[in-house]
Amino acid sequence: MQSPFDDTYFMKRALQEAEAAFEKGEIPIGAVIVIDNRIIARGHNLTETLTDVTAHAEMQAITAAANFLGGKYLQNCTLYVTLEPCQMCAGALYWSQISNIVYGARDTERGCINLETKLHPKTNIKGGVLADEASDLLKRFFIEKRNLN
Ligand SMILES: [Zn+2]
Repeated sequence: MQSPFDDTYFMKRALQEAEAAFEKGEIPIGAVIVIDNRIIARGHNLTETLTDVTAHAEMQAITAAANFLGGKYLQNCTLYVTLEPCQMCAGALYWSQISNIVYGARDTERGCINLETKLHPKTNIKGGVLADEASDLLKRFFIEKRNLN
C-alpha cells in the first residue's frame, strides 16, 4: 500500500496555508514543516497584517517548528513551501540546518536559486511540487488586486 504521506500530500497542506493568506489579503504563500510524516508547524505570509517585511510564510514556520521542537536546529525536518524561498528565507533556512526543502512554483525574480543563495550542505532541495496550483493562486491574487485598484 502506498503511503498517503508524500510530497503532494504535504504541499496541499502548504497550499491551504497560502489560501488562508489570500483570504486575509496577503500575497498567498504558505508553508508547513514536517517531521516523521507529522506537521509540526504551519505558516503563511503575514507581511501586511504584521506590517513586517520579514513575516514570510517560511519565517513563521521556522520559528513555530523551533518552538515545537525546543531546539533551534530543524534536522530531520522538511519544509514544504508553495513558492521558491527568497534570499532572506534561504538564509534563515541555512541557519536552521533543515534537512529538506520542497517548494512549489519557481520565483525567477527573487528566488534563491537564480540568486545562488547558499543553502546548508546538509540541506536537500526539490522543486516543482504542485507548482501550477501555487502559481495559479498567486496569479488569481494579483488579478483580483488589480481589479480592486
Ligand atoms: Zn522569503
